[in-house]
Amino acid sequence: MKKLVFHILCIGLLSLPVMLHAQDSQSTVTLHVVQRGETLYRIAQNYGVTIDDLVRLNGLTDPGSIDVGQRLLVPTAGVTTSGSSLVHVVQPGESLDSIGALYGLTGAEIQALNGLPNGAIYVGQGLMIALPTAAPTTVPEVASLDMPPAVVHTVASGETLFRIAQSYGTTVNAIATANGINNVEIIYPGQRLVIPGVEPPQLTAALPAPITGFDLSPIVLIEGQAGRFHLQSSVPVTLSGSFLDQLATLATDSSGTDMVAIFGVPVGTEPGIYPATFGFTDATGANVSLTANVQVVSGGYFQSDNIQVTGDSSLLLDPAIEEAELATLRSFMSVFNPERYFSGTFGLPAAATITSGFGNVRSYNAGDVLRVHTGTDFGGAPGTPILAPAPGRVVFAGALDIRGNATVIDHGWGVYSGYWHQSAQYVQVGDVVTTGQVIGAIGATGRVSGPHLHWEIWVNGVPVDPMQWTVQPFA
Ligand SMILES: [Zn+2]
Repeated sequence: MKKLVFHILCIGLLSLPVMLHAQDSQSTVTLHVVQRGETLYRIAQNYGVTIDDLVRLNGLTDPGSIDVGQRLLVPTAGVTTSGSSLVHVVQPGESLDSIGALYGLTGAEIQALNGLPNGAIYVGQGLMIALPTAAPTTVPEVASLDMPPAVVHTVASGETLFRIAQSYGTTVNAIATANGINNVEIIYPGQRLVIPGVEPPQLTAALPAPITGFDLSPIVLIEGQAGRFHLQSSVPVTLSGSFLDQLATLATDSSGTDMVAIFGVPVGTEPGIYPATFGFTDATGANVSLTANVQVVSGGYFQSDNIQVTGDSSLLLDPAIEEAELATLRSFMSVFNPERYFSGTFGLPAAATITSGFGNVRSYNAGDVLRVHTGTDFGGAPGTPILAPAPGRVVFAGALDIRGNATVIDHGWGVYSGYWHQSAQYVQVGDVVTTGQVIGAIGATGRVSGPHLHWEIWVNGVPVDPMQWTVQPFA
């Protein structure tokens, strides 16, 4: 097993210097992002390598044609002084001091190393950066990927993806890719979109064998939403993993080389960087692990909806009743079913207006009780049909104190949907349902202030924003 450790340093939005550090050879490789006006000749000159080196390492078929934004691996072995080094390409607005600050060095140190008499630098210049000798790592078979920074945009009424892309200086394609959106025509007010600062690095070239593919969609995870890890290997592997204190439940294809893990980011998760760790074990018992440092950003939920419940319904604010009912739901909504019934995006469960979104903190009876709203509400007249938004199998259909007449559909791969407060239920446990099938009717049973459908989606035991599933395909 080749021992390979690499770090991808993400600095600022441009995130240019990426150092791949292979322990065996003590060589370093720099990831260069092609800038406007650059040629392969000039890039080779800047780094002190030959055009042939670049062509060979990057498998270029036409050295005369490189694109702005294209990522090139640049070999920097042999130019190392001591410890490890990399080449930093000067960006507009940078100074020796600001570059030094990125690497824990002073501007004077960089000036001395590069023999710059008066300290003048120019945009596009390659500067040698000597890094302190790294302490030997204790677990060599670990690869670490830092996902790029991004911001989250909440879609306002009347906005289009084109207009949003324009306002951030990015493209419709970049936003669609970052959010796993298939149909760029469909966005909805209140939708939370990751605006990528930079395309994710082309990781495939740097992944340690036998891992051949790794991606995450969306590339930055949003509190209260789901994320899909897609992993591929060259040989069949047994995969394990965890993220946000959840064990990965992994869907694997028959070849054993293509795997998907879907996680929910619970509401209340603090924004920050969280490691997602996956372990790959092949038939010989050799294993390699991969840690992706994943950025989680705030869902921007806020307090809303003061709801008055009186009489019998107010008894249902009793925490003991709530806990017992939730425990019942958890007992079957947290079970991983390796069979998958759904594909593509989900439909909407009712032809009705959304009256309350997912994640907002609700106060009941003027602030006596606070609860996070774990679903999306559709306000419709009693009797309005409720439709299965995706294929699945009914695993619960019955009456609950708080949720009223409730139905739960298992869609496979740890994904469940729930339908609360119904006036009528047309399916039973064990029924297989298809997309668009009428499963019940909107009502006002359970703890409600009026008739509506409360729709939930759980993944890997965590309630997530159901509306994300109407725009992002997870399978
Ligand atoms: Zn609700």
